[in-house]
Amino acid sequence: MPMEKATALVLRTTDFRETSRVVILWTREFGKVHALAKGGRRLRSQFEFALDLLNLCDIVLIRKTSEGLDLLTEARLRERFQGIRQHLDAFYAACLIAEILDTCGQRDDPHPHWFDSTMVALRQLQEQSIVQTLLRWEINALREIGLQPMLDRCVLCKKPLEDMPASQPITWNALAGGVVCSLCPTPSRGRRQLSQELWRCWRLSTQQQDLPLPESSCQQLLDVLHEYWMHQLAKPLRLITYFSPHR
Ligand SMILES: [Zn+2]
Repeated sequence: MPMEKATALVLRTTDFRETSRVVILWTREFGKVHALAKGGRRLRSQFEFALDLLNLCDIVLIRKTSEGLDLLTEARLRERFQGIRQHLDAFYAACLIAEILDTCGQRDDPHPHWFDSTMVALRQLQEQSIVQTLLRWEINALREIGLQPMLDRCVLCKKPLEDMPASQPITWNALAGGVVCSLCPTPSRGRRQLSQELWRCWRLSTQQQDLPLPESSCQQLLDVLHEYWMHQLAKPLRLITYFSPHR
């Protein structure tokens, strides 16, 4: 079977038998990969410390054609994102990114641009606003995996939401996956009101990725997005609770 080279972010590892490890990687070339690192638990193995959570590595693997585990034959550390390991909020934000990638990433579904922008986000978490960096990453992630919410039109009747009095809040429904106009009935589950300012802020940030946003809006939007992830994904995200204002 052919050897393949790839660039990979370590999302998760679990022990396997006496000395080996199963590694879940997000690769630039192949999407999500489940690989067996034989001897990966031994001290001074060929993998050294490359397979620690959230490390960026250059890897060599033998790909299985079936659903079985790929075989990892080499992993060399390229970047450790040391700064995120020294700051708890940054570390949890990076762990949430890894958890979302682990939950949503698919085998043989590479997203090279998203991979590159994720590495940029991990570097930014070390020196820029954590909430803003995480928010931007999540807005982009929703687009990449096809879960972008409907913000311009009513998600139920598809009528554009324009020309409302500025004081009128916008009804958002996380379960329906978008905003809802005043004429459509919306179930209470997943429903919340957004100020028009926050709604406009969200719409703008989906169109213009490097738009600077006020920190208070970022935190509010992050809460809305986290509720949305909870409703849209079959599996709950554990790390979200860390970013909940009520934790
Ligand atoms: Zn409607």
